[in-house]
Amino acid sequence: MSDVRNVIIIGSGPAGYTAALYTARASLKPLVFEGAVTAGGALMNTTDVENFPGFREGIMGPDLMDNMRAQAERFGAELIPDDVVAVDLSDEIKTVTDSAGTVHRAKAVIVTTGSQHRKLGLPREDELSGRGVSWCATCDGFFFKDQDIAVIGGGDTAMEEATFLSRFAKSVTVVHRRGALRASKAMQERAFADPKISFVWDSEVAEIHGDNKLSGLTLRNVQTGETSELPVTGLFIAIGHDPRTELFKGQLELDDEGYLKVAAPSTRTNATGVFGAGDVVDHTYRQAITAAGTGCSAALDAERYLAALA
Ligand code: FAD
Repeated sequence: MSDVRNVIIIGSGPAGYTAALYTARASLKPLVFEGAVTAGGALMNTTDVENFPGFREGIMGPDLMDNMRAQAERFGAELIPDDVVAVDLSDEIKTVTDSAGTVHRAKAVIVTTGSQHRKLGLPREDELSGRGVSWCATCDGFFFKDQDIAVIGGGDTAMEEATFLSRFAKSVTVVHRRGALRASKAMQERAFADPKISFVWDSEVAEIHGDNKLSGLTLRNVQTGETSELPVTGLFIAIGHDPRTELFKGQLELDDEGYLKVAAPSTRTNATGVFGAGDVVDHTYRQAITAAGTGCSAALDAERYLAALA
């Protein structure tokens, strides 16, 4: 059995690396499980990040994450590119099991496992991510000035994205697979009143086109089966997110949508000595800077918790 660590961090996006940086600088020698496939988190899958403060020309997503990783490592964070496959968070000493079955023990655990945006599941979707296909209007809307854009979805997020994008775009076409929106009345009214926004009802995306950049979509009417072409250079997929909390079910309190519940403005979960930060707790903002901010808060909360134990 391993020695008891001060703190184990599960997840390696902006929240995890920031928590690692702060706890490392506080001499807590954090152990970070980065994930086996996606070490570095969601920004490893994107190109330009223009809204993370401190980079006036912007920075590529993977470069930003490499910098965060190296900065945490410089102060002594121990980073392991592996998945955590089981946890026991009920006692004062918590256990975290890696994919080889090794059990690691710690007095505090910080959960920063992020959330996964839902995909359409179409062949070109991943290849054209950052090349016209996006899941975040706040992040990427600015790149689509005077362009024709499609937004997929019919909920509040889709309407918010469409309304936001209409500030930049030449046109915004909302494609929804039903005949009516799920979004709140106020959001619907705002979208319906916007002259740049139009709607294609009862339809789904059948194909995504473009070699190196998105050039258009084939839509299929789910009632009639008829197809039509929609020439667009931007595609925003707004059909929801799934927080990565499977591992914590039955041990940590989750909300109706599976997000980790914390006692905001702190990052404390319902389990003593366990803290949550980043997109795994965040329905609303889902930005790199907000994830980094709450990662910092979780580190400070863990630091205070450990100081009180001593
Ligand atoms: P994530 O970055 O999702 O990281 C979570 C990490 O936890 C992952 O590395 C994962 O492997 C790991 N993990 C999960 N489960 C386990 C486990 N069991 N064991 C070990 N590790 C685990 N935001 C911006 O501010 N600006 C942008 O320009 C921008 N562009 C984006 C472009 C794209 C394509 C996407 C998808 C998102 C973009 N975002 C952008 C949003 C931003 O990436 C997220 O808000 C941010 O990454 C959330 O950080 P996080 O640390 O909470 O989680």
